[in-house]
Order: sequence, then structure tokens, then C-alpha cells
Amino acid sequence: MKKAKYVFVTGGVTSSLGKGIVSASLAKLLQARGYSVTIQKFDPYINVDPGTLNPYEHGECFVTEDGAETDLDLGHYERFLNIPTSQNNNVTTGRVYQTVIENERRGEYLGKTVQVIPHITDEIKRRMQLLGNSGEYDIVITEIGGTVGDIESLPYVESVRQLIWDLGSENTAVIHLTLIPYLSAAGELKTKPTQHSVKMLLEQGVQPDILVCRTEKHLAPEMRKKIALFCNVHPNAVIESIDVKTIYEVPLVMLKEKLDKVVLSKLKLSSKNEPDLKSWRDFLFRLEHPKSEVRIALVGKYVELPDAYKSINEAFIHGGAANECKVNVQYVHSELITESNIKHKLSGFDGILVAPGFGHRGIEGKLLAVKYARENNIPFFGICLGMQCSVIEFARNVLGLKDAHSSEMDSATLNPVIDLMEEQKKITDKGGTMRLGSYACDLTKNSNANRAYGKQKINERHRHRYEFNDKYKERMEAAGMKITGVNPATGLAEIVEIANHPWFVGVQFHPELKSTVDNPHPLFVKFIKAASEHRGSNA
Ligand code: GLN
Repeated sequence: MKKAKYVFVTGGVTSSLGKGIVSASLAKLLQARGYSVTIQKFDPYINVDPGTLNPYEHGECFVTEDGAETDLDLGHYERFLNIPTSQNNNVTTGRVYQTVIENERRGEYLGKTVQVIPHITDEIKRRMQLLGNSGEYDIVITEIGGTVGDIESLPYVESVRQLIWDLGSENTAVIHLTLIPYLSAAGELKTKPTQHSVKMLLEQGVQPDILVCRTEKHLAPEMRKKIALFCNVHPNAVIESIDVKTIYEVPLVMLKEKLDKVVLSKLKLSSKNEPDLKSWRDFLFRLEHPKSEVRIALVGKYVELPDAYKSINEAFIHGGAANECKVNVQYVHSELITESNIKHKLSGFDGILVAPGFGHRGIEGKLLAVKYARENNIPFFGICLGMQCSVIEFARNVLGLKDAHSSEMDSATLNPVIDLMEEQKKITDKGGTMRLGSYACDLTKNSNANRAYGKQKINERHRHRYEFNDKYKERMEAAGMKITGVNPATGLAEIVEIANHPWFVGVQFHPELKSTVDNPHPLFVKFIKAASEHRGSNA
């Protein structure tokens, strides 16, 4: 049984400073020193989970093995640490309030007035310690979403303040991530926003132990001293986090700055074991020294916001490094693809990926992209809605079922080749009701999928309502679209492939969610390989 120590990561000055990456990088360093570490994120919004949020609002929704719809930072945690997260790794204000209100309705507060302090803060503290109390971890890193000073973050900062008292100073460390802006007109880096942001934390009763300062330019020693003096931290605890080319360099930058050592010394833990980062460095070397390049078109409708396809982009980075190949992913807006411009839009690409998504908008462009890939023998990878599109396109253009569609887009179609499962038809609530989380899948021998995974039994994560309609299976297979992955429990089709094609694979699940630095996803690795073999033939 391990007794966990706690690191809290807060953010100041602005959002988007990369708390998730700093937390994941610290966790990586501690893990590489032999500690068992996990990271959790507390988000101050009132949605119970981000599952009902539009990707434009909050980027991609990351799904865990146990089927929780979570913040995309959990994806970074998994990609860096190579261990799965769970429902308990992401908590929102909505979930906290939901629990407290349910307790109140059950009469558990015995007639007391239910208040932010202590009832909400107690529930936050309970959840902050859930993973730590499992006995599995030496260190639990807790990232607090939002920026210090926001009204919504107050109960979280207050909970951190109380936990420092409950657990003792040697069992807790607070890292505050801030920005040191460079004013080009003055030619100077400015520390004032950081001073103010630390003051704000102090007003709320929390003295940060460590400051991680995001900056475009190096901090001179006098500047570090000045920040230390004004913010009441040790000069060694002022950590520079300079802009780097890729997020995967951040652990090495943090190592150089000794962030891990400073944290371990605050927690009174040994830093004797040097971190073993060999495989991480190998990955970075391959990433930064590619021997070839491929161009991949990512056809989707949320292309204005790169975070909407975060895990897919990262999976391309992992799979590219595995192939020693730079993957140049270009977004193609599915709404703007038409029959007359498709050649122009998609020529020059070595592979085409049709992205996941919901709703009717942009669907016809996706279908055209599938058709183009199928007819021109361009390596094709369809993910979730992308797989469903490949089935619809095949039914329409090969089987000749002109009105074939998904009942999500056309509930009246006579040929719903993608349809709602019976158990989904009764569901009216939108939150947390899709087919979510990990499901088993059996692969057909010698299929592209089987060759990629190198085994026949796999597990992948899902997030969708609609499914391949088995009524069309025989006709599809006879015409050349094979079901090469089946859910052993339900018989649902999870993978389709076209045999007579260089590489055409559609998957109902989300392989991108399981790709990590240490384990690049085999389907991405093989798709990139197929694209590089195909290179140049789609001029
Ligand atoms: N909209 C489709 C469904 O619900 C696909 C979802 C997805 O691509 N994640 O089945």
C-alpha cells in the first residue's frame, strides 16, 4: 500500500499556457525515476462532463477505457505516461455539485445548511484523494483547470489550501504556471503579471512552492531572483519553460530546469535514481530526424480548431516517428468539397483520413473524399463517422443503393446501412449515453488490421450511437467490402476493409485514443507506411 503525496498545478495570467503538458512532463520525469504517478484534472465548468460540449467549445472529448468522456488533457497524460486514465481522473464542478445535491436529497446532511464551504470543498477534497487512497500511487498530480482569480476556480483553490493543512506541508507541493510576457517595444520580459497572479493565490491562502514561467526568451539570473523575491519562493524554484518546437521536448526542458528535483525535495522524496528517458529520447530523435515525408489529408468539419482532432494529430506524430517519416497533416474542410473541386482539393495527398464527427453538416464532402480514395487507390483510413461514411459510399456507389445513408443523417432512408441499435432507440438523455469505452474485437486472419496489430484479439475505445447494419453484410462482402473486425459479444461490425485496394480500412472505434509515445498505434503506423509506399502516385 503506497501513501500518496500530492502536487497541485494551478495557472495564472492567461489560459492556454499548457498546464496539461507541464503536468504530464513532470509526471513523466517522476515516472522515469521509478515513482508511480498519476495525473487528474479538475475542471471548473458546470457541465457534468465535456461529452455534451461542441468540439469548438472545448476541443476533442477524450474517452477513457472505462468509458468516461473527459477533457483532452487526459489524452496528454496517457500519451506521456503510457498508462490508462479512468473516470476518476477528471472531475468537473457539475459532477461535484451533482453528488452534493444527491446527498442532500437523500438527507445525508442531517438538516444542515448545505454550503460551498464545507460541503462542496469536502466533496472536492474527497475526489482529489480518491486515486491517492487507492494505494497504487506514490505521487498524484492534480491539475486545476482555468485561471486563478476566476470566480469558478475559488472552491478548488480553497480545497487545495485545506488539503495542505490536512495532509501536511511535506506531503504537498503547489506549482503555479504563469506567463512572463516579452514586450517587443520595450525589448523586455515583464514579471509584473506573475507577481499579481501569485498575490491573487496568496489572497486565497495558498503560497505556491514552485513557479513555472512560460516565456519566449531566456530568463536572466537576476530576473529569476527578482521573481523569487517578489513571489516568496526559492530562486531554484523559479523554473523557466521556454517555447519549444514540440510538446514532446517539454519533459527534457523541465529536466534541465530540475523541476522534478525541486518537487521531490519539497515532498521529501529521494531524487537518487536518475530518470531513465532513453526510449523518450529515441522517440524525439526519430521525430526530429525524419528520413521521408508524407502528406495526409484530414477530411473533417471541425478543421478551424486544431484541438478538435488532438489525439489524431498526436497519433500521426507517434506513427510518423515509428516510420522515421514526417507526417504533414493538412486539414480539408468537408463542407467545402464538391464533385467539381474534389480532384483539386485532394490531389497530391499520399493518404486520406476521414474524421469522426456528428450530424449532417459536411457529410456529402466526406462521402466524396471516400469515393476519391477508393477509386484512385489512395490509402484510406476512416475513423468512426469516417468508417460509417465508407460504408455509405460503398452501398451507394458499388451496390447501387442510391439512397443509402446513416439514420443519423436521414431517418427516412429505405437503406439505413448505418443504423441505431435497439437499445439506443429508447435513450433520450444526451450525456454519457453513447456506446462508450473499451470493447473487445476479433480480427479476420490476414486482414490489414490483423497484419497491423500482429494479433487477432484486440480492445479499442468507442464513442458513438450508430452501428453498421448487419442486414447489408452479405451484399457488402460479396461486392468487396469485408468486415474484418467483429465484436465477439454482440456480433457488431467494428472494422471494414476493401481487399482490392492498397490500404482501405474503416474502424468504428477511436484508435487515436490509445496511441502513446511508447506504443504508437499500429493502424496509424501502417496507414503512414501505406501512404509512404503510395507516395507521388496521386499527382
Ligand atoms: N455520429 C456517429 C455516431 O454517433 C459517429 C460518432 C463519431 O464519429 N465519434 O455513431
